Amino acid sequence: MNTRDLSANIPYRAGRGIEEVARDLGLDPAALIKLSSNENPFGPSPNAIEAIETAAKDVHTYPKAAHTDLTAAIAAEWDLSPEQVWLTPGGDGLLDYLSRAMLSEGDRVLAPDPGFAYYPMSARYHGAVVESYPLSKEDGFAQTAPAILDQYDGQRFIYITTPHNPSGSEMALEEIEMLAAETDSETLIIVDEAYGEFTDAPSARRLLDERDDIAILRTFSKAYGLAGLRLGYGLIPAEWADAYERINTPFAVNLLACHAGLAALSDDAHVEKTVETTRWAREFMEEQLDARTWPSGGNFILAEVGDGAAVAEAAQKEGVIIRDCGSFGLPECIRITCGTEESTRRAVDTLNEIIGGD
Ligand SMILES: *Cc1c(COP(=O)(O)O)cnc(C)c1O
Repeated sequence: MNTRDLSANIPYRAGRGIEEVARDLGLDPAALIKLSSNENPFGPSPNAIEAIETAAKDVHTYPKAAHTDLTAAIAAEWDLSPEQVWLTPGGDGLLDYLSRAMLSEGDRVLAPDPGFAYYPMSARYHGAVVESYPLSKEDGFAQTAPAILDQYDGQRFIYITTPHNPSGSEMALEEIEMLAAETDSETLIIVDEAYGEFTDAPSARRLLDERDDIAILRTFSKAYGLAGLRLGYGLIPAEWADAYERINTPFAVNLLACHAGLAALSDDAHVEKTVETTRWAREFMEEQLDARTWPSGGNFILAEVGDGAAVAEAAQKEGVIIRDCGSFGLPECIRITCGTEESTRRAVDTLNEIIGGD
């Protein structure tokens, strides 16, 4: 018995969890800080925790009303119709749903390199061929329409990440608009705004008023602190938004996630505290890390440290878990998530000791 040929599908490697690392090193999990997966260091909104507790007794039912309510709340937040909001299991789920809705066997897609690992994975699962456009370290990972158009020749999707993971660079709205204008009407620009809450730059939402070739990814995993619930959504052009019902897995998002998402949406204070601390941490790391860094619009900083894997391993021994960027094709770099004030300071002290060689 065999699966179909999956040899082109590279397994997704998540940042390691605290329990895993603690077990390996024989350390108390409470002594570790995890700044490797861009999670919210303050945890979920207390309102979301309460909503999950309240909803727990209802998990024997399908999440019909909760799904509808959350969709409506998000639609109101973005001033769109509910059909234009596709709830999905994480932002990753949206990538799959767009693949399902748009890709045919043999279609080509264009993804950033370095870039988020799930773009090529999702496209390949759905029979597409993956091509890439380079973001260069020498240019500060600049994202411009002309540079992407250099690699474009009719691909079905172009993935844009802004702020970009792992570099933190951003693509200006005018550049996204230019890219959409210059590409075929059957090329979808997927604007991944997983880190959208952390930047001052405007969302690409405005383009949905004028265009039908842009879809936007948002998630509750980062600023909203609900990564464990797997809750994300897409903002979709009105013209084909009704495709959702033809391609979704019934009740795409679970009951607890729907209730928690609703509660989290109404807790502005939690998101504000998160974003404010993130800005402080970004600045602090840029100033204090003894390494080259790049300006970041996300809740993380990319730093060039020589041998990223060795630095990550040494930091882990000191109880600080960060991400080495070998899997992004940047083995000389690490990515550090913005933590609380305390954990960010500890990470910087630990890393500076390692980088400084003492
Ligand atoms: C975290 C992330 C996502 C979405 O993650 P989910 O947990 O599936 O919502 C999407 N794109 C990028 C670039 C990310 O870093």
